[in-house]
Amino acid sequence: MTLIQITTTILICCIIFIIAWERISPYRKGLPFFREGFWIDLVWYTLIQSFVLKIVIFDYIIAPVQHHISWQGFAFFKEWPVAAQVLFFLVTHDLYIYLFHRLQHSSKILWRTHEAHHSGKEVDFLAGSRSHALEIIINQTIEFAPIIILGADPAVVPIKAMLDAMFGMFIHANINVKLGRLKYIFNSPELHLWHHANYREVFHANFSTKFAMWDYLLGTVYDPGHKPGNEPENWGLYYDYPKDYFLQHAFSVKRFDEKSLLRYKWFRYYYELRPNLIKKARRLAGVEKKENTLPPEQVRRIPIEPEVVENEYQTINT
Ligand SMILES: [Zn+2]
Ligand SMILES: [Zn+2]
Repeated sequence: MTLIQITTTILICCIIFIIAWERISPYRKGLPFFREGFWIDLVWYTLIQSFVLKIVIFDYIIAPVQHHISWQGFAFFKEWPVAAQVLFFLVTHDLYIYLFHRLQHSSKILWRTHEAHHSGKEVDFLAGSRSHALEIIINQTIEFAPIIILGADPAVVPIKAMLDAMFGMFIHANINVKLGRLKYIFNSPELHLWHHANYREVFHANFSTKFAMWDYLLGTVYDPGHKPGNEPENWGLYYDYPKDYFLQHAFSVKRFDEKSLLRYKWFRYYYELRPNLIKKARRLAGVEKKENTLPPEQVRRIPIEPEVVENEYQTINT
């Protein structure tokens, strides 16, 4: 068995385990498996975007850089066992992610590359995959370039990629879990689900990905001991956000109002393409559902710049 086969098998077991755990002990009861945005997250973000960006990052960014420069002399960790190398890159990259994530929440420009991640109102094991393409390119280049360019053991890349996926699923999973004292070291849904809640108190808190210790050490932890609540307004963004993958990326470049764009024929055609295809597929499969497209008058209003509605976060009344 190759290493890739082993990491893939572990990952599949992990997915099955977390899905079962979500059903047995949910953090928010009644969250459907096929929740809102499930197919966008699975098809566009998890499968297509990951596949395309993997090629972009490894073949078109890291490989040319590696071709031109050799930093192998800095590889002080080369004699270390693989486990120690993995741990070294895990901790150093996690600290970088913490700092960059914190910056994304405080910079208006960088927020545009991160808001997609916060747009889901129903957070589960798959929700972590929703990340703007540019955010992935930046973070994964900074993650994998040093491993390859400094000449770490080749096993470090697939092992680290597997751990990324496992932690990503775990911290977003809709599971009720208490880590006890381990919560000071490892991140968990207990802290990260709060990071996806729509409350003023947590917009600048719980930035950690794998190790919660960064939040504890740097004073950004928010752990009130109760849950955000089950209403849609308790979760996600405090402003309307497109539901389509490409419109989400366009929205990060230029704010627009979907409703006013519907007066253009080309936009209406694109906007209704996916619902119409689903409608046709359902009709062909004989499971027609009456209402699949939103009539223009029901399309939600897309505002404006985040800072304008800065005061619209919820505040917790305790
Ligand atoms: Zn965030
Ligand atoms: Zn998240």
